[in-house]
This record gives sequence, C-alpha cells and structure tokens, in this order.
Amino acid sequence: MIDICVNFLNRQLQADPEMVLSRAEESGVEGLVLCSTDLAMVAANIALCELLGAAKNLQYRTTAGVHPHDASTWDQHSHAQLIKLANNPLVCAIGECGLDFNRNYSTQEEQIRAFQGQIEVAIEVNKPLFVHDRESQGQVLSMLTRPNLPPAVIHCFTGSEDDLRGYLEAGFYIGITGWICDKKRGEDLRTMVKQIPLDKLLVETDAPFLRPQNAPSDFASKHGIAAKWKKRNEPALLAWVVEEVAQHRQESVAQIAQATSNNAKQLFGF
Ligand SMILES: [Zn+2]
Repeated sequence: MIDICVNFLNRQLQADPEMVLSRAEESGVEGLVLCSTDLAMVAANIALCELLGAAKNLQYRTTAGVHPHDASTWDQHSHAQLIKLANNPLVCAIGECGLDFNRNYSTQEEQIRAFQGQIEVAIEVNKPLFVHDRESQGQVLSMLTRPNLPPAVIHCFTGSEDDLRGYLEAGFYIGITGWICDKKRGEDLRTMVKQIPLDKLLVETDAPFLRPQNAPSDFASKHGIAAKWKKRNEPALLAWVVEEVAQHRQESVAQIAQATSNNAKQLFGF
C-alpha cells in the first residue's frame, strides 16, 4: 500500500516519528507521500525524504505547494520559488492546492489566485497536481479544464456524485481517506466508491487527521502510544481505509491494495 497523504511534520506525528514509520512498514505500507501545505514546509519535507529514504525501509516523496488555507501567503515571488522547489526529483506533485470554500481561512480571491499560479507551475514543470476541493461548487473542475494539464488527483474526495462524474470524465485520479469509514459523513462516499475505475483509485490517511472509525480502539494501547494521541490517525491505519473501500466495491482487500499501490507508483514515480 502507498499512503498518498501524510502530514508528517504535524506535531501529533512528531511525538514518536520513528515508531509511526516502523508501524507503517509492519502494516504493509511501502511508500508515503509527505504533504506540504506551504513553501517553507516543502524544503523541510524534501530534507525528510532524503534522510528517511536513505534507510530504504520505506519510499518517500513529497508534494510542493500552498494549501488553500494558506493561499494568502502566495505572492509575486511564489511562482519562481515553487518552480525551483518543484524541480527536485523527490517532489512528486504540485500541491496540495485548490479551493476550500468551507473554511475560507484565506479569502476566495486569494485561493483562486494561488491555485491558478500552481496550475501554471504544474504545467511548466510537468508534474501531477495534488488537489484539495471542499465545496468549490464546480470551480476547481472549471479551473482545471485547460489544455496540457498534467495528471491530477482529487485528494480526500468528499464531493457529490456530479463532482465525481466531472472529475472522472476529466481523467483525474480520486483519493479516498478514512472519511469513507465515517458512519454519518461517509454514507454518500460509500455508495459512490464503486463508480471509480480501479486504475484511478488512490488511498490515503491524511494523518494525523481523519482516523478511520473502523480502526480498533485499542490500537494506541496495544502499541504503547501515549494516551494523549490515541485519537490521532497514522499511516499504519491505512489498511482500514483499504478494507472499507474493498467492502463497498465488492472487491478483495488484496486487489485494492495492489491496484492503488500500482496507481501511486505510476503517478508519483515511486
Ligand atoms: Zn486537503
């Protein structure tokens, strides 16, 4: 399995980073994409990929970009800075970038400008786009509808059936998180997940967020994780996302693990 979204620098995972990675390996995770949410984080994640990758237990890549929450930091220097970072071979995608009209931590105008800038960078360096879309009402898709666009993944897909249809028609990959395991919020996603072609499916934890609700509640105590972090998500819990996806597609766990791993390798060059 490959976890295509880990917020590894988050302090919840930095409480015991070596153990987080060794549990991931034990659980069958082969590779991780470390997600960057602003340009300062990209350099830190590249350094981590070099350091951790040298041990050769797991493979690491990172994204390079500015999250819609941080879009207000996108200025006239960002384009050139991002191009420079994005040319590093450990950078596998531009993002996460996109629009989040649910939270609006940056203004919608700022979000659109930063996303536009990052789409241009992705085209220029010809690397995939790692996209966040929360309640953009079709605006993410319309901004991505343009010639010469590299492949794109809609990470942590939580949209409507219309959104899904639009993204699949555009040929985009769809990333599924533990949102699908959420008894209430995941209902729509559980019925839609079988519409995603197997060769467009990716799985992710978005750790330390979105802990899969079907994961065992004694996971933390069994692994000696501090009680303070027992509700956090980590890459070792990716198997529970895969299990939920397999169940609702009526396919085997092995099939989903294999296909999503192959897709991630092909898309991100692991
Ligand atoms: Zn996101």
